[in-house]
Amino acid sequence: PRRLPDLPTRTRLSGLEPLSIGPESLFVNVGERTNVTGSRRFARLILDDDYETAVDVALQQVKGGAQILDVNMDEGLLDSVTAITRYLNLLASEPEISRIPVMVDSSDWAVVEAGLKTLQGKGVVNSISMKDGEEAFRQRAREVRRFGAAAVVMAFDEQGQADTLSRRVEICSRAYRILVEEEGFLPEDIIFDPNVFAVATGIEEHNDYGVLFIEAVRQIKALCPHALTSGGISNVSFSFRGSPEVREAMHAAFLYHGINAGLDMGIVNAGALPVYDDIPEELLIPVEDVLLARDAEATETLTRIASERTGTTQHRMEEDLSWRDEPVRDRLVHALVNGIDAWIEEDAEKARLELPRALDVIEGPLMDGMNVVGDRFGSGRMFLPQVVKSARVMKKAVAHLVPHLDAEQADLSGKGKILLATVKGDVHDIGKNIVGVVLQCNGYEIVDLGVMIPTEQILEAARNHEVDMVGLSGLITPSLNQMVHVATEMERLGFTTPLLIGGATTSRAHTAVKIEECYSGPTVHVLDASRAVGVVSTLLDRERRPAFMEETRREYAELRDRRAGRVQKTALLTIEEARTRGFDGGWPKYTPPTPASPGIHLLNDISVADLRPYIDWTPFFKTWELHGTYPEIMEDELVGETARTLIDEAMTLLTQMDEDGVLQPRAVVGLFPAHSEGDDIHLFSPSDVATGRDRGSENQSTPIAVLRTLRQQFRKDGRANLALSDFVAPKGSQPDWVGGFAVTSGRLVDQLSARFEAEHDDYHAIMSKALADRIAEALAEYVHEHVRQVLWGYAADETFDNDALIAEAYRGIRPAPGYPACPDHSEKRVLFDILRAEESIGVTLTETYAMAPGASVSGWYFAHPEARYFGVGRLGRDQVEDYARRKRWSLEDAERWLAPNLGYTPTNGT
Ligand code: SAH
Repeated sequence: PRRLPDLPTRTRLSGLEPLSIGPESLFVNVGERTNVTGSRRFARLILDDDYETAVDVALQQVKGGAQILDVNMDEGLLDSVTAITRYLNLLASEPEISRIPVMVDSSDWAVVEAGLKTLQGKGVVNSISMKDGEEAFRQRAREVRRFGAAAVVMAFDEQGQADTLSRRVEICSRAYRILVEEEGFLPEDIIFDPNVFAVATGIEEHNDYGVLFIEAVRQIKALCPHALTSGGISNVSFSFRGSPEVREAMHAAFLYHGINAGLDMGIVNAGALPVYDDIPEELLIPVEDVLLARDAEATETLTRIASERTGTTQHRMEEDLSWRDEPVRDRLVHALVNGIDAWIEEDAEKARLELPRALDVIEGPLMDGMNVVGDRFGSGRMFLPQVVKSARVMKKAVAHLVPHLDAEQADLSGKGKILLATVKGDVHDIGKNIVGVVLQCNGYEIVDLGVMIPTEQILEAARNHEVDMVGLSGLITPSLNQMVHVATEMERLGFTTPLLIGGATTSRAHTAVKIEECYSGPTVHVLDASRAVGVVSTLLDRERRPAFMEETRREYAELRDRRAGRVQKTALLTIEEARTRGFDGGWPKYTPPTPASPGIHLLNDISVADLRPYIDWTPFFKTWELHGTYPEIMEDELVGETARTLIDEAMTLLTQMDEDGVLQPRAVVGLFPAHSEGDDIHLFSPSDVATGRDRGSENQSTPIAVLRTLRQQFRKDGRANLALSDFVAPKGSQPDWVGGFAVTSGRLVDQLSARFEAEHDDYHAIMSKALADRIAEALAEYVHEHVRQVLWGYAADETFDNDALIAEAYRGIRPAPGYPACPDHSEKRVLFDILRAEESIGVTLTETYAMAPGASVSGWYFAHPEARYFGVGRLGRDQVEDYARRKRWSLEDAERWLAPNLGYTPTNGT
């Protein structure tokens, strides 16, 4: 017999042709585009059953230099077993493609098996690991062997994915030992993937991920003879999604260093890799600084470069634009689902000429697209920012088509008409606008009356427009009373229209206890925009409505009972007793710091650039209903990609707003001599001190303002019953000080936002307002720091980074009227008067003490080292009566302004 030739050990794979990989081989490119999880375009082709074009994608990959083809069909909507079988069979009939081996990529073993059954030649399984324990790992390895395939082995074990160097190396060596020594697996059929993670995410621990991968490759190659190494290269650059140029440079440089360390193959977009030596030095150096963690400032530098280089590169353009070759119908759907508005008018026009009537375009492809969006949002596969972008595309298309609609078709109210309004005295409308957009996306017509809308106007519009539902929104607590008023009036006037309640200050409990009881029509609290669609569609559905309303009414009745029980049970201290249990500031031994610059200061030259580092991005994501903490949210498995795109686009708009002078940060600060008298705080003119008068003595001057604070009355075992006045030295002790501030982003943003709305661009309309809010909050943070370090100067040496500032690590607090420690919004009047905030920075107060413009922040400063935030909680009638006397209000007025905090049921039933 023929003697077996003595061949060198090589990883031998094959399609129709062999591919052998060994030490002398060049780097092997694995084509990544035939992957439904990695390429939206490919996913869409497969979902649309367009396998022919999907095969072309594979061909492009081969032509672009791919030597192995990674195929992945892991998509929830697909029968992945059938899809992969069909696709691989089609590839087999294309000689140019089936020349090369295939990597069957799935997290579902049944799909891997189906793929292996279909493959000719010797392919690769991507992947197996010890994630589900050693036994499952061995089992799968045996299967792989039985099929005669090679396998990618991920550095993953029972404890999860390895992210340290030692874990990466340990797991791979352990897997190697098991496979080679115990399972008889050929070492050359093992391809280790020691996990490529994103670098420069803003999280310090991630900075080393590039270096760790490269070092892991080096060690694994040394410890595991004949085994290969591989990695998903594009993961490394996720943080720079906005800039393909930077990303591609990162991939090329990362590969260069990886290959030097022994990396044998990688999953890459082979056609889109620049040559390492061609990368210009001014890009290469910062890229390598980041990848190799050579410089602490590297992330920042590269982020700056990336924001300058957001242009799309050649390759990207080619790839992304292929959907433009599809029929116009599909293009409309694609544009909607992906939120691309660049060609929408052109496409809408083309569709209009192709279809019999303009209305057919709306009812056909546009509605099809919006249905996909609605479904995906409903099932959590699309997130709010993407939906709002889709709405923009829809609105632009409709705006183009409307002039072409016949008169009788012009009514687009579709599924129902909904009135939305922010109630009288309240100005905040981001949440309301978002709800409006989301409902429009789902085919409802919205009548948006705007902000500060009196009850009469709401009801008149509801009548005139014959709306199917009324939605009320509010941010501040006095708006709750306004909503009760609207409900009461609807009842009196015999309305039966369902009433929806939403906004930051509202709750299910309040809706149940205060509003529903006033109105016999359906009354429902809506938690956020993503719930709005469900509630609205159920309420408008004759069949589902009765059961839903019965359930809601029962729930609300239960909430009322539970609350009534609780209110009765929570015995409150009398206000006298609570006062004896106040916080003791240790006044005899405490010397309050004297401000370096007492009096009022106007700060008008703070730039947006100064403020950027002070922005707290977490609430920004919350506005967009992406829940999680920044920066971790950027790496979140579910919403990370959405979050990254969102912040990229936010940065771009912020820069533009700054350049256009839309943001006008203005702040006013006042530092006043003060002392407490009971639960009041008396503020004096700064000149009283300057003239040397002794405020402690009997013949002191009259205060320029008096703050009325409220005290906790619930029983606190051993801990103090706090009021803000406790943090200020009492009359007769050493002179103390209290500060006040008001800051704003200015009034121009509302104009900008209105302009975006006029262009049907809700996405940027909402984004601009959300950014103005961020700048106002950042300004509050910045100014507070300036006060501590300079104007008051009691913490001249403090050094906190932004995380520490957000966590309020500094000494002192800045409680805001309307918040839990000082829930009475009307105290803003006192603050604004002593600061003259309306004249100096142009922030006004509405009749219910909302600040206008909305992107404004105000509050008091307390410097006592133990000053802290707290909630006043429920108030007894005795304190409310006392408070009414101090404020010179009637008891009814006091009960109205303090309604959310009452610990008893007022006799007049408010
Ligand atoms: N970093 C956040 C800051 C806003 S929330 C952002 O950018 O949005 C924190 C602020 O709310 C505090 O600075 C204070 O002004 C106010 N606040 C929080 N809890 C409070 C309480 N219990 N009483 C009064 N004000 C409170």
